[in-house]
Amino acid sequence: MAVQRTFSIIKPDATKRNLTGAINAKFEAAGLRIVAQKRIHLTKAQAGVFYAVHAERPFYDELCEFMASEPIVVQVLEGEDAIAKNREVMGATNPAEADEGTIRKEFALSIGENSVHGSDAPETAAEEIAYFFSGLELVG
Ligand code: GDP
Repeated sequence: MAVQRTFSIIKPDATKRNLTGAINAKFEAAGLRIVAQKRIHLTKAQAGVFYAVHAERPFYDELCEFMASEPIVVQVLEGEDAIAKNREVMGATNPAEADEGTIRKEFALSIGENSVHGSDAPETAAEEIAYFFSGLELVG
């Protein structure tokens, strides 16, 4: 498998509890390199654009509200098979179903407040990276 880049967010529930470093340690231990990172505070409208794919889901409004509630840390992670590897390190969407040792098992509060986002495919990774970062900010 080739070296890939994936997009990651440390969500408001995690930044609020000062877990940025603990979560980054999980990425690095898994062989993922943080090649871009910044802390930002989204508006609800910006969160809505990012999660537009979920616009018809019943939790959409709650999700956008949550993502705009506190600062987030947006990141680009690089490594062998980075998209799948990051999904593995993150664990299942619902922390009750996440494997031992995963970020969501260890840190997530609920299916909504689940500490991290990670791209699910090369196309979404490219789109999500481009929404938050310029090429100059990606330092591999
Ligand atoms: P992911 O790729 O594992 O993040 O999961 P999805 O793409 O299915 O959902 C995107 C995000 O929407 C999740 O990470 C949660 O923050 C949120 N979400 C998903 N399902 C629910 C739900 O049933 N209730 C609430 N409140 N939020 C949800």
